[in-house]
Amino acid sequence: MKVGIVGAGMVGSSAGYALALTGTASEVVLVDVSEKLAIAQAEDIAHATPFHSATKVRAGDYQALAGAGIVILACGVNQKPGESRLALLERNAEVFRQVVGAVLAVAPDAILLIASNPVDIMTEITTRLSGLPATRVIGSGTILDTARFRSLLGRHLGISPQSVHAYVLGEHGDSEVLTWSNALAGSVSVASFAEQVGRPLTPELRAEIDDNVRNAAYRIIEGKGSTYYGIGAGLARLVKAIALDQRAVFSVSILTPEVEGVRDVALSVPRVVGASGVIVDLFPELDAAEHAALARSAALLKEKTASLQL
Ligand code: ADP
Repeated sequence: MKVGIVGAGMVGSSAGYALALTGTASEVVLVDVSEKLAIAQAEDIAHATPFHSATKVRAGDYQALAGAGIVILACGVNQKPGESRLALLERNAEVFRQVVGAVLAVAPDAILLIASNPVDIMTEITTRLSGLPATRVIGSGTILDTARFRSLLGRHLGISPQSVHAYVLGEHGDSEVLTWSNALAGSVSVASFAEQVGRPLTPELRAEIDDNVRNAAYRIIEGKGSTYYGIGAGLARLVKAIALDQRAVFSVSILTPEVEGVRDVALSVPRVVGASGVIVDLFPELDAAEHAALARSAALLKEKTASLQL
């Protein structure tokens, strides 16, 4: 499948690199407002492919996206000194206004994967701007938070993260919700498994894992300026699920008719992803505190989008 990436910065190029190394796409086309950057990134990534795959990687204009099955939107502008989050959001909404129209003019059948932050809000904006069914405009949401949660739980329990079934729901951001009550190690609750292996999940340990998941991005940004490898790999994983119609379950963000009584809000819950985009939403069984936290997260996102002129 041909995959387009608009925004050849750190996140876009990392997604391109992951797609090329894994051979998930037959062709990757990078588009950026800086043509020079797109060309340089494409050439650099293309030099990696002979070692691992036959993926063709090139830079192009919007015309070059014709025939793409998926287009990843990783474009955006950075916060100016003193700029409010809302002002930044409005400038990014303007970028998306131009980009979404240009993409759909040449690739009307593509599934859009949104990576730009704040991802839940950019997903809602893209859904509204595009007029596409919400199931075809998928934000990366909490895929990375979920991956971090599984990895920390797996490390504590001494098992592979792939054998841990646990999700982070809600906003990709401060109000996200780690759902402990339904987390499984294999087929056993993580709490029970932790007892069985003599490594109980004490309240202190849960708080430490929660903090580690919730604040990972802040710590990485402090050390290296921004985060991109994790999300790049996550986006490549979503492309694979769509390209191969895997119907795999991911915590991704789409505009959802109702979550915890909040109407028309984009946030993450586990969803089945396949060739047509999101196929089914799964609303997991939660305990009272998790329900309340998810309701708070949904309400907060609703508040943030209310002031936007779409
Ligand atoms: P991130 O770390 O999120 O990837 P970057 O700033 O590295 O952030 O990348 C964002 C990219 O989006 C930049 O390369 C920038 O040139 C690109 N971009 C900004 N506006 C547009 C636009 N209108 N069309 C295409 N690309 C754009």
